[in-house]
Amino acid sequence: MTAEIHHCKDCVDLLGEYIEGTLPPDRAKALEDHLSLCPPCITFVRTYKATRKLCRSALMREMPRELMHSLSSFLEARVPGFKRCEDQTIAAPAADTAPKKV
Ligand SMILES: [Zn+2]
Repeated sequence: MTAEIHHCKDCVDLLGEYIEGTLPPDRAKALEDHLSLCPPCITFVRTYKATRKLCRSALMREMPRELMHSLSSFLEARVPGFKRCEDQTIAAPAADTAPKKV
């Protein structure tokens, strides 16, 4: 299948696999073609990669809740189907882990 990608939504759907390196070469090519023509998607890929990195590292837990929340909201607003990192990594009650006021 060498269909071109016409919708950013399709692009987003493929990104996870693309970044993991599991996307078939022809689909990866189609994705890259779209990315080269679509600045919003280029921006999204950068953000997506950075966010994934954060999600995987302990840094995400040390990130201020407010910042993490706004980042998630930002991605959610732009990316249908974006999965909040919050749900995966911040499952524990916040009260116990919240920074103490000094
Ligand atoms: Zn696009």
